[in-house]
Amino acid sequence: MEYPNNDNNGLPRATRDVSLHELSTRLAEFSQVRGWDQYHSPRNLLLALVGEVGELSEIFQWKGEVGKGLPNWSSAEKEHLEEELSDVLLYLVLLADVCGLDLGQAALAKIIKNAIKYPVITPHNNDHSQNPTNSK
Ligand SMILES: [Mg+2]
Repeated sequence: MEYPNNDNNGLPRATRDVSLHELSTRLAEFSQVRGWDQYHSPRNLLLALVGEVGELSEIFQWKGEVGKGLPNWSSAEKEHLEEELSDVLLYLVLLADVCGLDLGQAALAKIIKNAIKYPVITPHNNDHSQNPTNSK
């Protein structure tokens, strides 16, 4: 198993698109060689996911509103955020896998469902009551 800084085409990792399938495959290998599969029940993975969401939340705790792009954050703070976001994503992918679900397809289907539930507002259907950010 290699974890390259560059992809097979020599592109920097930041420009390489990573699929959920690749993450799933690498997670399966990571767990299998360590004998951790026995601990990866859906319930255990959900609790681990929630714990990681807590660690992610701690990063933003007490900071007040944070600007897009994190303009005043240090590189160390951004790296910490990357790590915790990754922990959340990896547990989410693993949870979907042990439940036998295709997370990528499910997420695409959910976007379509949301598009139907929350149609684009035009001058002809100017009903803001369906906007989830509208508290009315
Ligand atoms: Mg963590």
